[in-house]
Amino acid sequence: MMDDEPFMFHALVGAYINAGLLDPLEVCRAVEDAWRAGGVPINAAEGFIRQIIGWREYVRGIYFREGPDYTSRNVLKHDRDLPPLYWGAKTWMNCLSQAVGQTKREAYAHHIQRLMVTGNFALLAGVDPHQVHEWYLEVYADAYEWVEAPNVIGMSQFADGGIIASKPYISSGNYIDKMSTYCKGCSYKVRDKTGKDACPFNLLYWHFMDRHRDRFSQNPRMGQMYATWDRMDEAKRKTVLAEADAFLEKMEAGETV
Ligand SMILES: Cc1cc2nc3c(=O)[nH]c(=O)nc-3n(C[C@H](O)[C@H](O)[C@H](O)COP(=O)(O)OP(=O)(O)OC[C@H]3O[C@@H](n4cnc5c(N)ncnc54)[C@H](O)[C@@H]3O)c2cc1C
Ligand code: SF4
Repeated sequence: MMDDEPFMFHALVGAYINAGLLDPLEVCRAVEDAWRAGGVPINAAEGFIRQIIGWREYVRGIYFREGPDYTSRNVLKHDRDLPPLYWGAKTWMNCLSQAVGQTKREAYAHHIQRLMVTGNFALLAGVDPHQVHEWYLEVYADAYEWVEAPNVIGMSQFADGGIIASKPYISSGNYIDKMSTYCKGCSYKVRDKTGKDACPFNLLYWHFMDRHRDRFSQNPRMGQMYATWDRMDEAKRKTVLAEADAFLEKMEAGETV
């Protein structure tokens, strides 16, 4: 998700297909034809077609199978209000500031920004998934409930208890640093795990793991992370959790975080 990557082409396609202005099958056939004519490499054509007939159709099926109560599911019982930084209030977290700023300007953010920046933060911070759902529904040009809700309630917030995803999509700052240039321009330090400059994603990641231990410790895809947490010395674990709590209190009090 480097800032100079050309995301607009895809953005327009997604929004136009969802609005019914483009037929998904015709778009897939056009991409196939472009590959046959030698204009597009096989991996790009295959990836694009797979997203449309795979993910897009899959989430549509889930939405209509699960029914109208889907958008009020909240298995993790998260109940914090969506912080005002999602509506452009100042934040020291550069990744969120940039992703929200771009969203406001373009009504678009690419998948990693939605999943690993705005979605990840809301999940780690324990924000009420219905409020998160309403935010995504309002801010993105391609947002229609049938496609947005399974992505937000299911994939991003794990509020459906694992129908769409087999584990929550959470990460510390390290992943955001690997996938972007945001951390270089941030007031927080992505390498700091504790202390006044520690990246909030680093603190909240362990806070999430700790508070949902009963649900996730038996998940085969998460056992390794619990082992890492348990290997940390107790004083360090206490510091991480106390600093995460202090961060959440500050955020709830409406202070700039
Ligand atoms: C929290 C969250 C919210 C999202 N909300 C929406 C939404 O409201 N509307 C929406 O269309 N997509 C949504 N997505 C899916 C995805 O992020 C966007 O479709 C994506 O940003 C489109 O970028 P792209 O065209 O570069 O994707 P590509 O990877 O190039 O995929 C091509 C096309 O496949 C379809 N597609 C790919 N992934 C998905 C997916 N997970 N679900 C449905 N269709 C998909 C889209 O039509 C997309 O344009 C959301 C994802 C997350 C994590
Ligand atoms: S240091 Fe943390 S808060 Fe800052 S940009 Fe990186 S991931 Fe985001």
